[in-house]
Amino acid sequence: MVDYHLHTPLCRHALGSLEEYLAAAEQKGLKEIGIADHFPLELLGFAPEAQVTMEAEELPGYVESVLRLSSRSGPTGVKLGIEADYIPGTEERLERELSRYPWDYVIGSVHFMDGWDFSHPFFVQEYEKRDLVAVYDRYFQLVREACRTGLFDTIGHPDVIKKFGYRPEVDLEPYWVEIASVLKETGTCFELNTSGLDTPAEEFYPGRPFLEILCRAGVGVTLGSDAHEPESVGRHFDRALALLRQVGFKELAVFSRRQRLSLPL
Ligand code: ZN
Ligand code: FE
Ligand code: FE
Ligand code: ZN
Repeated sequence: MVDYHLHTPLCRHALGSLEEYLAAAEQKGLKEIGIADHFPLELLGFAPEAQVTMEAEELPGYVESVLRLSSRSGPTGVKLGIEADYIPGTEERLERELSRYPWDYVIGSVHFMDGWDFSHPFFVQEYEKRDLVAVYDRYFQLVREACRTGLFDTIGHPDVIKKFGYRPEVDLEPYWVEIASVLKETGTCFELNTSGLDTPAEEFYPGRPFLEILCRAGVGVTLGSDAHEPESVGRHFDRALALLRQVGFKELAVFSRRQRLSLPL
């Protein structure tokens, strides 16, 4: 199996060395890992209240160290990924900055809603002040826009807005259907991110009904633990794979130099 969403301490909120993540993956018998740390927001001209990404000048060293790790021969392959934020208005800068490096894949994630870092525990009280329907509406709008930029191979944790357990009392199915159709139309995959199970949402991202819609729409799926510490590599993968098969997925999307390949499930 493969884990395509691992962080590194460069983002200031993860622990462990690259070698430790790889060792954890080897111990779990993973065929491949993808390091996908947070892309420096500084390069997009965006300075969040809490630093959650590496500094701009650390990016070349990040790429170099992942490539160095990947050049070693071992039982577990290593891919060069990155988790980039979709911030409206920064598409051109992001495209330019991404073009400098030989990524295997780029995860597009929405973590910011008009400046609010809504998946960060520091800013969770903001949910209490807002209309949850409007929050979810804006979130899914940003995810659709992210797909349409064409800059991303896969969309990270596509319903992470539920992370802290705040859910509006409306049917979300129309949003899920719309996301599925935009993903399909733009040829973008989505990520089954197993970290959600360890949050107040107590579900994978996306949850099962959303996953079913994505499967029916024929959207490709990538898999990631979003590990911010080596112990989390491959977390809940038995459950995730069982769920993917039950829902009807036959393959997992993997990437090499941004070319999509598949791994039978
Ligand atoms: Zn992170
Ligand atoms: Fe993320
Ligand atoms: Fe992540
Ligand atoms: Zn993430």
